[in-house]
Amino acid sequence: MRVAVIGSGIVGAAAAWHLSGRGVSVTVVDGAFSGRATDAGAGIVCPWVDHPDDDAWYRLAREGARRYPDLVSALGEDIGYARVGALLVATDPVELEPIRALLLRRHPEAPEMGDITDVAAPSALFPPLRDGLSAIHVPGAARVDGRAVRDALLRAAIHQGADLRTGTATLTPDGGVLLRTTPDGDPLRRTTTGAPGPEPSAETQVGEAGVRVEADVVIVAAGAWSGEVCRGLGVEIPVSPRRGQIVHAAVDGVDTTSWPIVLPRSGPYLLGFPGSRLVVGATVEDAGFSPYVTIGGIHEVLAAGLRLAPGLDGARVVETRVGLRPVYAAGTALIDRLTDRVVVATGLGAYGLTAGPFTGQIAAALALGESPPIDISPYAHIPT
Ligand SMILES: Cc1cc2nc3c(=O)[nH]c(=O)nc-3n(C[C@H](O)[C@H](O)[C@H](O)COP(=O)(O)OP(=O)(O)OC[C@H]3O[C@@H](n4cnc5c(N)ncnc54)[C@H](O)[C@@H]3O)c2cc1C
Repeated sequence: MRVAVIGSGIVGAAAAWHLSGRGVSVTVVDGAFSGRATDAGAGIVCPWVDHPDDDAWYRLAREGARRYPDLVSALGEDIGYARVGALLVATDPVELEPIRALLLRRHPEAPEMGDITDVAAPSALFPPLRDGLSAIHVPGAARVDGRAVRDALLRAAIHQGADLRTGTATLTPDGGVLLRTTPDGDPLRRTTTGAPGPEPSAETQVGEAGVRVEADVVIVAAGAWSGEVCRGLGVEIPVSPRRGQIVHAAVDGVDTTSWPIVLPRSGPYLLGFPGSRLVVGATVEDAGFSPYVTIGGIHEVLAAGLRLAPGLDGARVVETRVGLRPVYAAGTALIDRLTDRVVVATGLGAYGLTAGPFTGQIAAALALGESPPIDISPYAHIPT
């Protein structure tokens, strides 16, 4: 069986890994577009605190989070995953009561969140925080490096025989894949493996238009661009980009490896990574396909971040990132078969690093004609 996967973000990479592990001949194609969400994602894995009234969303994120420890051992490399815990903070302790009730309600079915406790002095765990905050500690929350997850999945898929091609893919009305390759070789393949991969096999030259990638089934995991890709098939799926701008800083001389994730009831979150790296994010903007860092966006993130954690005033800005979260306007996420030959898996919005590897697993099951590991009816395509 041959499967083409369009998009090598966290979803497509996971699908390719699962399929190649089953002996399927997999070709992954990616256009290395600016604004790939997986490149910008903060890395918070804490599903229990959101979607109080949306069970479908909650279940997908919870199941994704639950599988991370197994994913870490299966990949056998450092993907930045650590159970650092989360501090849910508020100025007025009353604001924390609804979230406490939600966590207590969910705890019996999700004991992996750990036992929730009150924290009298949050700055003892996250020193730059301002005084006077109340906090609840959720010890099971984790952070992960989205880029590292994606690259590790791709490396493992290639090791299992998957082929990775750089270029822009379009679907034809019969569910075929046309690929326009980039003139300067295959940079993505080199960066993920360190060396050029094997010569592509499953493709046929189709004149000037590009090459046709031969496949029995196609998985569209093209993130915010999935609607564009599916248009060639004659199917409209309302997937749109939601921009997020985020700042990486360094608190020189301070080890931030084990700092907890800080989640205020509104406004920006903070989390630490190994070394002295600290992440402040993110904006939530419906700005179309405009993957740019803006002065207003960075100002918004930094101003709110400093109000929450004035101790970051002297932190050094290391880089800014911007990504386009894929949002499915017609429902929750979109994981479904569009035709006999085409599966789509996208729309993970702000939870794609949490649910992405699991969503790729579901897409792989659909491509193989197997039953998915959870009921996916809440994520079905709703014709517009
Ligand atoms: C600022 C920010 C913070 C976030 N923080 C978190 C967080 O803390 N926790 C969490 O769980 N989630 C978070 N997310 C969400 C998460 O990053 C996304 O939901 C997830 O990365 C989406 O993955 P994806 O594979 O669907 O899409 P993408 O990563 O965007 O991948 C899609 C891929 O498809 C390729 N592509 C598109 N069209 C074509 C085409 N025609 N031909 C070939 N290739 C194509 C693109 O180049 C791209 O590589 C955050 C997102 C942002 C932007």
